[in-house]
Amino acid sequence: MAASHLAARLLDVIEGDILPLTERGVAAGNKVFGAALLSKTDLSVVIAGTNDETANPLWHGEVNTLRQFYESPQRPATKDLLFLSTHEPCTLCMSAITWAGFDNYHYFYSHEDSRDSFAIPHDLKILKELFGLDPGGYRRSNEFWTAYAISDLIDAEPEPQRQRLLAQRDRIRGRYDALSRRYQQHKGDNEIPLG
Ligand SMILES: [Zn+2]
Repeated sequence: MAASHLAARLLDVIEGDILPLTERGVAAGNKVFGAALLSKTDLSVVIAGTNDETANPLWHGEVNTLRQFYESPQRPATKDLLFLSTHEPCTLCMSAITWAGFDNYHYFYSHEDSRDSFAIPHDLKILKELFGLDPGGYRRSNEFWTAYAISDLIDAEPEPQRQRLLAQRDRIRGRYDALSRRYQQHKGDNEIPLG
């Protein structure tokens, strides 16, 4: 699969499949994190999902997507799928991705982005307090999987495709900025332990 096709496709899935779910989820008091599983062969979406912590504090965007995936009677093997996460996973979610047998994940916002742009410090605090690691300080390539930053895929593109993808990236960031503001304004109203 051409890398150029991949970066463009992942941005399209965030924009067209995940963000509409997340906009509804945030309206219901949930966090901004979402995920999708794509077929490696044709990059079609198998399932997309979003955070549902108001129902269960373990239903992070990635875990909630996996929960729904395993509830579907017909499902491909995880080795044949790409895991797309809007935000570089927390330790709960990266373990879930590992236990489910994926050999990859691709993320839009890095841990460092999340630290700088989203007032949700818990995942990075857990990384530090439990494992002594700084943001992004875990092994992004290991025996189980390799983690890919979509920003790196975009930067590897030739012009003018790179500029087009950067514009799309910025448009997506704008939607997340608005969602993040909305979540922060209302998070005192929910009962999520680490809100
Ligand atoms: Zn998580």
